[in-house]
Amino acid sequence: MPERRIGVFLCHCGSNIAGVVDLEVLRQAVENLPDVEVVSDYKYVCSKPGQKILKDSIKKHKLNGIVIASCSPRMHEPTFRQALREIGLNPFLLEIANIREHVSWIHADDPKAATEKAIDLVRMAIARARLLEPLEETEVTIKKATLIVGAGIAGISAALDLANAGFNVYLVEKEPSIGGKMSRWDKTFPTLDCSSCILTPRMAEVGNHENITLLTMAEVEEVEGYVGNFKVKIRQNPRYVDIEKCTSCGDCSDICPVDIPAEFDAFLTYRKAIYIPFAQAVPSAYVLDMDNCLGVEAVKCGKCEDKCEAKAISYDDKEKIIEVEVGTIIVSTGFDLFEASKKEEYGYGHFPNVVNLGEIERMLSSAGPTRGHVVKPSNLKEPKKIVYVQCVGSRDELSNKYCSRVCCMTAIKQARMIRDKTGATIYVFYIDLRTFGKGYEEFYESTAAAGVTFIRGRVGEILQNDETMSLTVRGEDTLLGKPIQLDDVDLVVLSTGVVAADATNKIAHALNLSISPDGFLLEAHPKLRPVDSFNDGIFVAGMAQGPKDIPDTVAQAKAAASGAMALMGKGKINVEPYYSVVDEDRCAGCQVCISVCPYNAVALNERGYAEVNPALCKGCGTCTSTCASGAISSQHYTDGQISAMIQEYLSTREGA
Ligand code: SF4
Ligand code: SF4
Ligand code: SF4
Repeated sequence: MPERRIGVFLCHCGSNIAGVVDLEVLRQAVENLPDVEVVSDYKYVCSKPGQKILKDSIKKHKLNGIVIASCSPRMHEPTFRQALREIGLNPFLLEIANIREHVSWIHADDPKAATEKAIDLVRMAIARARLLEPLEETEVTIKKATLIVGAGIAGISAALDLANAGFNVYLVEKEPSIGGKMSRWDKTFPTLDCSSCILTPRMAEVGNHENITLLTMAEVEEVEGYVGNFKVKIRQNPRYVDIEKCTSCGDCSDICPVDIPAEFDAFLTYRKAIYIPFAQAVPSAYVLDMDNCLGVEAVKCGKCEDKCEAKAISYDDKEKIIEVEVGTIIVSTGFDLFEASKKEEYGYGHFPNVVNLGEIERMLSSAGPTRGHVVKPSNLKEPKKIVYVQCVGSRDELSNKYCSRVCCMTAIKQARMIRDKTGATIYVFYIDLRTFGKGYEEFYESTAAAGVTFIRGRVGEILQNDETMSLTVRGEDTLLGKPIQLDDVDLVVLSTGVVAADATNKIAHALNLSISPDGFLLEAHPKLRPVDSFNDGIFVAGMAQGPKDIPDTVAQAKAAASGAMALMGKGKINVEPYYSVVDEDRCAGCQVCISVCPYNAVALNERGYAEVNPALCKGCGTCTSTCASGAISSQHYTDGQISAMIQEYLSTREGA
C-alpha cells in the first residue's frame, strides 16, 4: 500500500454542526495524528466553493485518503465521491464521519460531550481511511422491459407512461379484469366526475397497446436476479374462456343456472358462475368461476359450453407458468378495505342496515345493483335518516393507528350526493375532518351548507330495533362536551379505512421488500426517494405504499414509471463495489453463507466454493460475520478496517 496521506475536512453545516461542536477543539485533537497531512474546515463543504477547497487541497497535498466530518453519508457521499473522481482520485478512498445526525443534532444540549464524541468519530474515520483501498464499480446492462404487479389506476398509469415511451411492459393482475377499486367507485371527489368515465378509456388503451402484455388472473410466483436483469415466473390461473375467441355476447351467462353474490357489486347482487365482472372489463371476456360451476360435478351441467357459438369455453383449461425477463419492476398492488365486522360495537354483518363505504359506492352507481339509488338493505326502501361514522379501522389504537386519508372525502362526497338526490337527513360523526387536497375544503364547506350535519366525536355503539330494523347511534359530541344519541336512524355507513392488500404481503416476500409497521410497503426514503424500494430497480406506487387519493396515486405511478425509465433509458448502470468476496483458500464450502444471505447473493461455484454475485450482494455483512473460516469479507468494510476503528476508540479509553 502506498504511503497514506490523509486530509480531514470539517464541515460547519452553517450552524447545524458548528453551533454545537467546537470545531477548533476537534481540529487540534486530530491534526497531529499519524498520516494526517492537513485539516481544513469550511462552512459548507458540499457547496461549490467547499468542493473546490477539497479538490485544491487534494492536489496540493497529494492526498490519497479523505475524511470528511459532516452530515450523514446518505446525504452527500455521492457529491464528495464525484469531487474525488473529477480530480482523478478513486472515489472509494473516502470516509465520512457523521457529526451532524449522530452528534450535533442529538447532543445539542451538551456541546462538550458532543465535541468529545465528534473527536472519537473523526479519529475512527482516520483509522479506517488508513486502510481504504481503491475499488472499481461494476457495469450492469439493463433490459428495457418492466414488470408491473397490480393493474389498478396506479399500475395502469405507470404501464401507459412506460409503454408510450417505447418500453415493453408486462402488466400482471390477479383479477379477471384490470381497473382495481377505482372501477367500482361511482364518482370521484371533489369534482364529482364519473370514475369509470375517466378510468375506462385508460383501461381500453392498456388493452390495445402494442407494448403492453396484459396477464390477468395471474400472480408473480418467483423473482430471481437483480436490477436490470430480473427473471420472473408468473402463474396464470385458468380462465376457462379463451379471451381471443370470446365475443362477450353473454349467452353463456344467460343460460348458467348458478347464482353467486357478485364481488364487484360488494355482494349486493348476484352473478352467474360464468360472468364478466363489469361491462367495461378489460380484457372484454367472460370468466368461469370453477369453484361454483356445476360443469365438473357428478351431474355435469355443461350448458354454457353447448351454448357458446364462438367455442370459447374449455373446462380443461390449465394453469400456465409464464417466464419473463425485465430490467425494472413496479409494485402497485393497491389496498383492501378494513373488515368492518372487527369493530363489533357497530354491528356490521349483524345489522343489515349498517353498511360500509364500498357498498354505498355500488348503490350510487347507475350501473350498480340498485341503479343509483341508496336503499336500506333490510327492505330496499329509501333511507330518510343516515349516519356516517368516520375512522372505522383507522386512527384507532385497537386496529390501525394511521389515517386512511380517503374516507373523510369519500364520506363527504357520498353524503353530498345522497343529500342532493333525496334530501335525506345526514349526520357525519368525525374525529377530525381531513380535507387536505386541492378543492377538498371548499367541497366540505359547500356540503355542510347543503345541509349535511357534521358532529365532532366518536360513535360508541350502535343498537338495532329488531322489529323496525331502525338503528340507534350513541356517541359523544366533543365540541359540546356531552353525550349524544340519534334514534330512528335508517342507515349507518361505516367509513371503513384502508389496509394493505394481501397481495402486497405476497409480493413483498417474493421481492424481498421491506414493510413499514402499518403493513404497507416501505419506501427507500420518505421524502427524497418516495417511490424507490430498498432494492435497486424495484419501485412502489399507489396504495401499496400507503393510503392516498387518486391524484396522489397517479402522481406516484408516474414517478415510479419515470424512475424505471431513467434506469432503462441509460441501458446500463454502475453497481457500487460494496459486495463481499470469497477467499477460496479459506472457504470450506460449508454453505452457511448461502443459508444466511437475505438477498440470495451467494452460490457454490463449480469448484465447490462460495461465490458472491456482485449485482445481488448488498454488502450487508451477514455472511462475513457468519463465516467461521473468515473466508468472506465485505469489500470497503473489511474486518481490518472495522477492527482499526474499534482499536482507535479503545486506545483513547485505555489512556484515560
Ligand atoms: Fe364469450 Fe362464449 Fe360466453 Fe359468448 S357464450 S360470452 S362468446 S364465452
Ligand atoms: Fe378518519 Fe378521515 Fe383519516 Fe379516514 S381520512 S381515517 S375518516 S380522519
Ligand atoms: Fe449476502 Fe449480505 Fe453477504 Fe452480500 S454481504 S453476500 S448480501 S449476506
